[in-house]
Amino acid sequence: MKLIIASNNKNKVREIKEILSDHFDEIISLKEAGLDIDVIEDGATFEENAQKKAREVFAAAPFADAVLSDDSGLIVDALNGAPGVYSARFAGLEHDDEANNRKLLAVMKDVQMDNRTCRFACAITVVRKNAPELNYTGYVEGRLLFEKQGENGFGYDPLFLYEPLNMSFAEIPSDVKNKVSHRYSALNGILELLNREGLK
Ligand code: IMP
Repeated sequence: MKLIIASNNKNKVREIKEILSDHFDEIISLKEAGLDIDVIEDGATFEENAQKKAREVFAAAPFADAVLSDDSGLIVDALNGAPGVYSARFAGLEHDDEANNRKLLAVMKDVQMDNRTCRFACAITVVRKNAPELNYTGYVEGRLLFEKQGENGFGYDPLFLYEPLNMSFAEIPSDVKNKVSHRYSALNGILELLNREGLK
């Protein structure tokens, strides 16, 4: 069974291999599959974006047994869920982490710690040949800091306080983050769905 991951991000591909390799003989990135597809992520939810990406890549890859895609971002309660699906382009420019963090701190500057609850979400879709589509969304809870802390990670990691360790996601080592993250939770949800099918 060949699984194509709808991404070229090496870290994502490695994480997915670590968790799902018992269920697929081969797990490869878009590039390794010889595909160059740019799916427009214009859904209203993480789930819609993950589904759209997986379905479009699957339609372009008749040789694949399955395609997995994910969509993730930060949900801030005091902002009614923003930046949400706009996480990568919150400040306008796609993937300008610095600008996104600056804007988030500015719009949250008058919000007290009690009301700074937030969570990362990750929706994963697996589209399969001759088998139902699988969907699972994982979360990790946190609190938005008043200033950046730590140098690791990417995106909103320096502003995301992970309370069980009292450190930001940019302060904890990546192997520790990868065992508590929204993506880890979503991948384990998918693993659980696959394992349950195996028991039928
Ligand atoms: P993507 O869906 O993985 O491309 O993530 C979209 C955006 O959400 C990223 O550009 C980041 O701004 C934010 N994001 C998603 N996951 C994380 C994370 O683990 N740490 C920090 N930011 C994240």
